[in-house]
Amino acid sequence: MDESVILNHMGIKEIRDLEKYMEMALEQARQAFDREEFPVGCVIVQSGHVIASGSRAGTGPGQTFFSEVDHAEVRALKNLEKFKGGFDPEESILFSTMEPCLMCYGAILLSGIKTIVYAYEDAMGGGTGCDLNSLTPLYRDRGVEVIKGVCREKSLDLFYQFFNKEGNQYWKGSFLESYTLEQKQNQESKKALAPPGLN
Ligand SMILES: [Zn+2]
Repeated sequence: MDESVILNHMGIKEIRDLEKYMEMALEQARQAFDREEFPVGCVIVQSGHVIASGSRAGTGPGQTFFSEVDHAEVRALKNLEKFKGGFDPEESILFSTMEPCLMCYGAILLSGIKTIVYAYEDAMGGGTGCDLNSLTPLYRDRGVEVIKGVCREKSLDLFYQFFNKEGNQYWKGSFLESYTLEQKQNQESKKALAPPGLN
């Protein structure tokens, strides 16, 4: 992403501030991975503090039915109920290790959170490219800001590991799987081509 981006509010001044919180979302994603779930994690940060977190559920190998509701972002938004300090969406940023899908994007907009930061683009099911101007006022007038690509490689690595795992059935053979394998190959060849010291 553009290194010159500066979010001059909510205590976020530099890219490394965004990376610090994305690392916490990645920790949630790793917990999902360790439970053999699709590795997505999410944290909601208000005034510099994590006030809610969530990780993907409902996709494990023992499932007879894959849940398409238990997404990390929805679970984090649900966990806001446990925060007793007074949720202020205007002061909050949502960090997700994968681009929110249409359902999650809608839920985030409804929550009033206006800043979304994600790591790895969801080339198959990402919803943040949706044209809000074509929707009704509740969505159209949110003025939401989306920052992409923060800690992208780390999130991509987790998805690569997930799709290479023996026995996994979730999104097996999907466009997302082939896109992820291709992105990982691109990443490796870029590293191989980079001059020494510039990695
Ligand atoms: Zn989602």
